[in-house]
Amino acid sequence: MTMLLQRRAIMSVGLRLFSSHATSGPLADSACSSSDMSEFRKVFSKAQHIAIITGAGVSAESGVPTFRGEHEKWRKWQSQDLASPEAFSRYPSRVWEFYHHRREVALSKKPNAAHLAIAECEARLKKQGREVVVITQCIDDLHQQAGSKHVLRIHGSLTETRCLSCGDVDVNRRSPICAALKNKGSPDPNVADANIPVDKLPRCSESDCNGLLRPNVVFFGETLDSHLLTKVEKELEICDLCLVVGTSSIVYPAAMFGPQVASRGVPVAEFNLRATPKSEYFTYHFQGPCGTTLPAALAPHNSEVV
Ligand SMILES: [Zn+2]
Repeated sequence: MTMLLQRRAIMSVGLRLFSSHATSGPLADSACSSSDMSEFRKVFSKAQHIAIITGAGVSAESGVPTFRGEHEKWRKWQSQDLASPEAFSRYPSRVWEFYHHRREVALSKKPNAAHLAIAECEARLKKQGREVVVITQCIDDLHQQAGSKHVLRIHGSLTETRCLSCGDVDVNRRSPICAALKNKGSPDPNVADANIPVDKLPRCSESDCNGLLRPNVVFFGETLDSHLLTKVEKELEICDLCLVVGTSSIVYPAAMFGPQVASRGVPVAEFNLRATPKSEYFTYHFQGPCGTTLPAALAPHNSEVV
């Protein structure tokens, strides 16, 4: 019944990005014990098409902050306050300072053991005619840096820009992204807004355009790319094993992906620091840092021939 309600919820919610108000307080306290890894390994050894859904927890282990917790603020705001179309249209300079900071931090980080285990698993299983797809909510590119090839980034990318005038999407890793943002974006609450004039913020380089650029990420309240979401749906429909890694399952619609697969009777394994609002739907739950639990889960099984 609950599952039915949830499926109905995703249909009514559609493709819009939002965060539920579930708190982690009571869940964090009620430690959910880890499942039997050898049981998971049996299922893993037979899986032909593995979908790995990842979230901020994977990047957090590389030191990438998400500004989602009470203790993780940029100046006095959390990302929900700044990652919105309203905030960007009212305070483009402030929102660009925030993303400039996030870009600079992300560009300085390296993939961790979880990213590497996923990438290695994809390459290894490919040789056996098996498939791994990463469906990530992370906006850094640590999965790609680790070597993952089949990655669907449903919340966009920090290293891409999109022009508000012509719609052009560009890969952009410049540091700083523009002269006016140099040394700006400090998260220190005592630092005042830089108030950069809008014509000095990142601008489109297409000839005769010069439109204002924005980070090519999905802001809260915006819809996800429907073309990309169609690909995700397809992957969720054909996978025969699903991993939900480092995500607290409170940001929709991604929070529904794991339960959606589980409702088909397909095994879903959750890897997280603590239990989440969705843990009860999943076959397996492995508690602890993903950089510790995933390498063991995805290591070569002794039945693998290549
Ligand atoms: Zn343009």
